[in-house]
Amino acid sequence: MHNNGIKALKGMGLAHQALRQDELRNLKGDIGIGHVRYSTMGASNLDHAQPVVMSTNYGDIALAHNGEIVNADHLRDELKKKGWAFATSSDSEIIIRLLANDISNTGDPARSIRNVMSLLNGSYSMTLMVDNRVFAIRDPYGMRPLCVGRTKEGYAAASESVVFDTLGGEFMRDVEPGELVELLPGEVKSIKTGLAKGRAHCMFEWVYIARADSCLDGRLVYDVRRKIGQRLAIEQPVEADVIVPVPDSGRSHSMGYAEKIGIPYSEGLMKNRYVERTFIMPDQTDRSTGVMLKLNPLKSVIKDKRIVLVDDSIVRGTTMRQIVQLVRNAGAKEVHVRVGSPPIRAPCYFGIDMKTRDQFAATGRTVEEIAKMLTADSLGYISIEGLVDAIGLNANDLCLGCLNGEYPLPVEGEKVRFQKKLDSFA
Ligand code: AMP
Repeated sequence: MHNNGIKALKGMGLAHQALRQDELRNLKGDIGIGHVRYSTMGASNLDHAQPVVMSTNYGDIALAHNGEIVNADHLRDELKKKGWAFATSSDSEIIIRLLANDISNTGDPARSIRNVMSLLNGSYSMTLMVDNRVFAIRDPYGMRPLCVGRTKEGYAAASESVVFDTLGGEFMRDVEPGELVELLPGEVKSIKTGLAKGRAHCMFEWVYIARADSCLDGRLVYDVRRKIGQRLAIEQPVEADVIVPVPDSGRSHSMGYAEKIGIPYSEGLMKNRYVERTFIMPDQTDRSTGVMLKLNPLKSVIKDKRIVLVDDSIVRGTTMRQIVQLVRNAGAKEVHVRVGSPPIRAPCYFGIDMKTRDQFAATGRTVEEIAKMLTADSLGYISIEGLVDAIGLNANDLCLGCLNGEYPLPVEGEKVRFQKKLDSFA
């Protein structure tokens, strides 16, 4: 932000490819927001890159959003009926337009942000710049993570606490569900919205998405993953010679598994660190070749051994099937698969790109049938109870929608959690 004008820089690719150092250095100003897109809706192109900036009577406003608004289509249709036009299919455009419109009525950014929050259903952690001020908001269930911390230059908000370690700063606290904070030069001011509804933190953040060294809602991700591994060893033991983690996503889970079961842990799959996470690759063919490029088996660890492969989760099963084959080709005597999350069976509507039931390995298959599809000698998943215990929060404070098909918010055609059966009203 400079002279009340917002300068936006956007690019495609990973952050270091999209934003050049010299361009970043040329940005002048005291405040800013940034975004790395993980696309769940809309095409993967520059039009959907964030932050979204809009020029209004009230000056430029900008917004960066992590999450998904489930009533976006409804809101867009309603606004179109009133004559509003939209340039993109993104839910972020709806939010910024609603905000621009509301501020022109109230003249009070904080009040308008609250007003807009009250219209949105879904998951959102957001940072906003309005009138030389920076705000951060978290949805009323706290589905996606958001925290605040301090750095040498001032206060900041981020999805993961690890940002503050990296910047030589200090993590302060999580933003509460339904909370609006303003980052001021001398303080983080909390503004009550009265919108908090309870909690429904996404379990997949601890299982896979967040960095292991981040602390989310009071739980260090690394600790949770190790506990998941330990619990998995109790629930799904197996006789074997060596535990091999699937790098990098299964590393901490494997460590916990090996510790508990007392079988040696060994890095039997070496990762080419210059190949990126396979799920980001847009189509299935790319994903399959990606696995081969990414991992190389160490024959000395694997040959003639009974191997347990431990990974965080199985979504489509593409990756695990390839890895089982890789390990077999390297001479393994047996290949057992253990998984740090229960079977993913239902779509996510709140920010993870798992949209249709037909893509899941677990759809319409028993565990034995999934094992067969993976060409594994055995397969074992952690239970939902085991996962919840390992996270250490109450099950009602988590969103487990992709595991049990019950969601914290109404989604068309899906069950809402705590929904009573008809006969319970008798
Ligand atoms: P899959 O081959 O689909 O079973 O997935 C293999 C790995 O990618 C696992 O570590 C998953 O947690 C991760 N993964 C799969 N799909 C997604 C997704 N849509 N978003 C994030 N991670 C994913």
